[in-house]
Amino acid sequence: MTMFKAIRIDKAEKGTTVALTQFDEAELMDGDVTVMVEWSTVNYKDGLAVTGKAPVVRRFPMIAGIDFSGTVSESSNPNWKPGDKVICNGWGMGETHLGAYAEKARVKGDWLVKLPQGISARDAMAIGTAGYTAMLSVLALEKHGLTPNQGPVVVTGAAGGVGSIAIAVLSKLGYQVIASTGRVSESDYLKKLGASEIIDRAELSGAAKPIAKERWAGGIDSVGSTTLANLLSMTKYRGAIAACGLAAGMDLPSSVAPFILRGVCLLGIDSVMCPIALRRQAWDRLASDLDAAKLAEITQEISLDEVIAAGARVLAGEIRGRLVVKIS
Ligand code: NDP
Repeated sequence: MTMFKAIRIDKAEKGTTVALTQFDEAELMDGDVTVMVEWSTVNYKDGLAVTGKAPVVRRFPMIAGIDFSGTVSESSNPNWKPGDKVICNGWGMGETHLGAYAEKARVKGDWLVKLPQGISARDAMAIGTAGYTAMLSVLALEKHGLTPNQGPVVVTGAAGGVGSIAIAVLSKLGYQVIASTGRVSESDYLKKLGASEIIDRAELSGAAKPIAKERWAGGIDSVGSTTLANLLSMTKYRGAIAACGLAAGMDLPSSVAPFILRGVCLLGIDSVMCPIALRRQAWDRLASDLDAAKLAEITQEISLDEVIAAGARVLAGEIRGRLVVKIS
């Protein structure tokens, strides 16, 4: 029996149990590539999984963790060989496929992205699914035709993972960034990342008018609910909002007014089943458009045995920026 360390979630009579324990390699699921996991991270969804606060896990036993970076140890996939440095985000890891909080993972080679030049395995997970989702949002806004000369962009959930990386990337690209946060005490942090204006999230969390004064040409929203509704109602003519999160709720109490009166577009962002070509593009752009010093500034390192407690802190909104997890 070959055992390795993993955070295992089991079904209990009521809810789930979670523990850092030993996992038998024979229990790994099908896949054509085995990876020695080196780094992972704690995303919002990981917080939901390890605390059992939402039914993220749909297979038991489960190894939690939705993303990793590491080195290929075995492969029967022609695209990968032992020694290759890889990244894996989503694809149901930590939900329906055994996940990332483990010394070993077995996955489909088609899910993997080569670690881009200029990004270390640690930095890849400091970025993690949150940062890769921020970049997918930037790419969607660019595809829409947004450019910095059209006006400011707004980022909500600004001090969180998606928000922090979105601000760093957008400011590097030359955008004037308005950061919306519930933690105005983090104004200095957000300004260092590149925000030029900070607004209290309370300004955007009340019931939205169908249409309101135009404030931004675009935005990245990780909050949802009335916040997203307010963002849409305040978006300039032919602007766009990339919606990627639900930190305040799944609902969207909006109207069609921004769409039919201002031609505003709502761009949906999914990182989990995103096609591989777009993933590669996002990771390449993170290598060129995310300042390494800013990434270091927003990142705290923890160990595998701190992940379960950290998951609860992520959900409580107590973590600023990103957590990177040293696995091995
Ligand atoms: P974090 O927990 O790091 O950040 C979320 C931030 O949202 C918080 O820091 C806080 O920012 C803000 N926030 C939290 N609760 C509320 C609230 N009740 N009302 C308003 N704002 C709130 O999470 P991530 O950045 O990792 O993820 C953000 C969201 O994006 C999550 O909902 C996550 O599930 C989603 N997501 C979606 C993906 C996709 O594929 N579409 C992929 C990755 C993430 P502040 O303190 O600045 O106000």
